[in-house]
Amino acid sequence: MFFLVSDPGTAIDPGNAYRYYEDGILVLNSDGYIADIGSAEHIQSRYTFAPHEIIDYSGKFVVPGFIDAHLHYPQTEIIASYGHQLMQWLEHYAFRAEKRFADKTYAETISRFFFNELLRNGTTTALIFGTVHQVSVEALFEEAEKLNMRIIGGKVMMDRNAPKSLLDSPESAYTESKGLIETWHNKRGRIHYAVTPRFAITSSEAQLKAAQQLYHEFDEVYLHTHVSENWDEIEQIKQLFPSSTSYLNVYNDFGLVGPRAIFAHGIHLSKAEFDLLAEKEAAIAFCPTSNLFLGSGLFNFTQAQHAGIRLALGSDIGAGTSFSLLKTMAEAYKVVQLQKKNPAESGKQTELTPFKAFYLATLGAAKALHIENKIGSLHPGKEGDFIVLNPNATPLMRLRMQTAQSLAERLFAFMMLADDRAVEAVYLMGKRWIAPDVNRFP
Ligand SMILES: [Zn+2]
Repeated sequence: MFFLVSDPGTAIDPGNAYRYYEDGILVLNSDGYIADIGSAEHIQSRYTFAPHEIIDYSGKFVVPGFIDAHLHYPQTEIIASYGHQLMQWLEHYAFRAEKRFADKTYAETISRFFFNELLRNGTTTALIFGTVHQVSVEALFEEAEKLNMRIIGGKVMMDRNAPKSLLDSPESAYTESKGLIETWHNKRGRIHYAVTPRFAITSSEAQLKAAQQLYHEFDEVYLHTHVSENWDEIEQIKQLFPSSTSYLNVYNDFGLVGPRAIFAHGIHLSKAEFDLLAEKEAAIAFCPTSNLFLGSGLFNFTQAQHAGIRLALGSDIGAGTSFSLLKTMAEAYKVVQLQKKNPAESGKQTELTPFKAFYLATLGAAKALHIENKIGSLHPGKEGDFIVLNPNATPLMRLRMQTAQSLAERLFAFMMLADDRAVEAVYLMGKRWIAPDVNRFP
């Protein structure tokens, strides 16, 4: 069993930042919360009564369920679409795909497929974009409620610079978002709402004001959008908002930078923008597979680390190329490596250690989303969302694990080589998720 208890920073040996039990026992309550955790010897000495059920996962890693801090479920079908950068990619692929979500039956079909894909990759919580259609989010929430998954989602707000059939208005965006919040947010299942303007290019000032109103009107709602991903996008922002001093300040001018505000990408942010995020307790979702795929750029992990911002990982499906947060960790490591300017400087450069990578996918993400009191680690009292990972899932992994000595070495080799094949079991609120028959899917 392995989990982080605090930010491990960038030291390869982060001392007390994690707990690891080579031979451990995780005890769950009948209502699915974690009751206890520790070494097998310690736990057995504490409990005299016979447990209801013992499940043996010897030789496996039991870790908290992964948290994906940014992705678009309506883009599941267009993953791996060739040849464009952000603005053209949206036009050629994303907008076309999103039009189909006006049909609730279609949205339900893709929701089912989407959650199956998240879970089989070990992701138990996600922050999710719907489309502009209210029914797209209803379909998403209904499916998450059935699965009892803790998710955060929202209806896209978009009233300009997109195809006509995908536009709402400041008024309809406000009313429909409010309706979803009042029905779902902290009310049904384990569902939270995120006010979701796509990005400042597709929302008028009036609509950003409506987003501001929603974000401040309801307790604990999220704000979920994109910032500073691509140079053409940044240029367009300058034209649209000439009086704002930076891209992030466009959002800040509308009161949208604060706790529970999650901004995807932030590749080209200045130091002042990173400092503003830290000061306001807002977070960035670092989406390496998407940033590489769309050629958007390399996220400045070192600067984010220095600014002390809340940081999480996002798959950014469908511009991202994998649902697996293990693959996302591996690509994040490479993005950080690519920014080492020369060997002489590399000593000063930050590296993404395996401990930090697992932190970003679990407890760090929970902190970024302000739900670390519920999920993100295996502490007693938290919800029983955890996964079982097999370090010997493939012949190559088995071979590599034989030579890996320390925990750091094993975790690193694992995160570089593993994918969905290594996810042996997934638990939501203490109950094992049973994968549906794949023939049910399109
Ligand atoms: Zn995105």
